[in-house]
Amino acid sequence: MKLGWNNTLSVREPLIALVSLILIGGFLITNVSSYYVSKNSLREAIIDNELPLTSNNIYSEIQRDLLRPVFVSSLMANDTLVKDWLVDGEQDLEKITRYLAEIRRNYNVFTSFLVSERTGNYYHFTGLSQVVSEEDPRDAWYFRVRDMPEPFELNVDFNAEQGDTLTIFINHKVEGYDGKLIAVVGVGLKFGTVANIVGRYKENYGRHIYFVNDDGDILVRSEGAPVAEDNIRSAAGISAVAPAILEVDQGFFEYERDGESMLVSSRHIPELGWRVIVEQQESEALASIRESLIINTLVGLVVIAMTILIVSYTVNRFHSRLETMASRDKLTGVGNRSMFDLTLEQALQRYRRDELTFSVILMDIDHFKRINDTLGHLEGDRVIQNVVQVIREAMRESDVLCRWGGDELIVLAHNCSLENAVQLAEKTRKSIETASFAVYLDGEPATLSGGVTEVRAGDNADDLIRRADEALYQAKQEGRNCIRPV
Ligand code: GH3
Ligand code: MG
Repeated sequence: MKLGWNNTLSVREPLIALVSLILIGGFLITNVSSYYVSKNSLREAIIDNELPLTSNNIYSEIQRDLLRPVFVSSLMANDTLVKDWLVDGEQDLEKITRYLAEIRRNYNVFTSFLVSERTGNYYHFTGLSQVVSEEDPRDAWYFRVRDMPEPFELNVDFNAEQGDTLTIFINHKVEGYDGKLIAVVGVGLKFGTVANIVGRYKENYGRHIYFVNDDGDILVRSEGAPVAEDNIRSAAGISAVAPAILEVDQGFFEYERDGESMLVSSRHIPELGWRVIVEQQESEALASIRESLIINTLVGLVVIAMTILIVSYTVNRFHSRLETMASRDKLTGVGNRSMFDLTLEQALQRYRRDELTFSVILMDIDHFKRINDTLGHLEGDRVIQNVVQVIREAMRESDVLCRWGGDELIVLAHNCSLENAVQLAEKTRKSIETASFAVYLDGEPATLSGGVTEVRAGDNADDLIRRADEALYQAKQEGRNCIRPV
């Protein structure tokens, strides 16, 4: 029975809701904040270490690849064989061709060449190819090298002698024994070396690489690179940071393209006059921690759901035990006085609303003190339990029996007139008398007296109880073992 305990539901449910709120709120706050902490530290690691490291690695790989050809060019420029051949008037074409071919073969370079200052002849590892001319823009490099103060330069250009392949040339000045320029020699590397490096970084780290010159022209880019335009100054997104990229030797930049945040590190390669730009899509880099956020959230929510289930189950069980403890009489298992008060109050409300009548029967065991005194308290308890059992059997399912206190029991009989209630009380009285489940030392069986009353217009609970009590008193006065209505 849940009579009158509904008000506790309004405490129980907010309690569970509050616990859920604290659990879910606490969990979400810690989970989301730890996501942001790891996101920030990962971002910092990418910005401070990984991207600069990648551009530095690329830079040193390129430097390493260029070091040997620079050395070979210097070797050629200082070779007395080359100098003597030039000073002697470039006599034996076969000799210099063989020399250039040997250099190419031994040092595994793409091309080797010599341009004579005196004749303007361009010697190639396969023979004499042309005469350089100041008018031909494709030969401009020679006249630049001739006039520059440095002993050598690196130049990225198309190789006219070998199918216009993009080539890194190392052009080295050759000075005669008198210190005057007599030729320019050098070797060329196929640009594919750089392209290989770019491909490898794309493959291994999912980072896009661009090589741009000082004007911002993209000379090489990794496959599938987001920036497809020719120049970073005019390309969508990156154009916002292009001037800054082209201004500094090394730096970190960030830009938005198609709603994606891009992290960019750039480094100047002075040997080539280029910059290497390493680019990482932020969302791609953070995908792993986003995944772990989702997994953590799912696991957390399952754990919270289970915790809430267990808490609700425990609270409900605890609550119903409390309810039973507070509303039941321990000895007999029937309702106690406070439960009867609630039952009576509800019956009165229904009577006032629907005029649904009911009666109250107050019963008291006669000379119960004697049972205690002669047979002992335990036996007294047993008698009370037996009396309850007899009343229960006599009453209807809808009637409510409670222990009023001590040896007093009270029945609220719903939809029951005074007459019917008296019949019910009489039936009980007789059953107890004949059952004789307790016999006093004088041989008399335990009996019961009762007072009965029906609800009347204008009654409150006290009126009803008072009348039932008066009727019971009358029954006691008139010799006990009888029922009196009022
Ligand atoms: P009367 O016929 O006038 O009712 O006489 P009585 O002896 O029954 O008097 P009363 O109803 O006043 O006495 C009730 C006694 O019941 C007093 C108390 O010691 C005893 N009692 C109350 N509760 C319990 C109980 O739980 N177990 C037992 N064994 N005795 C109880
Ligand atoms: Mg009594």
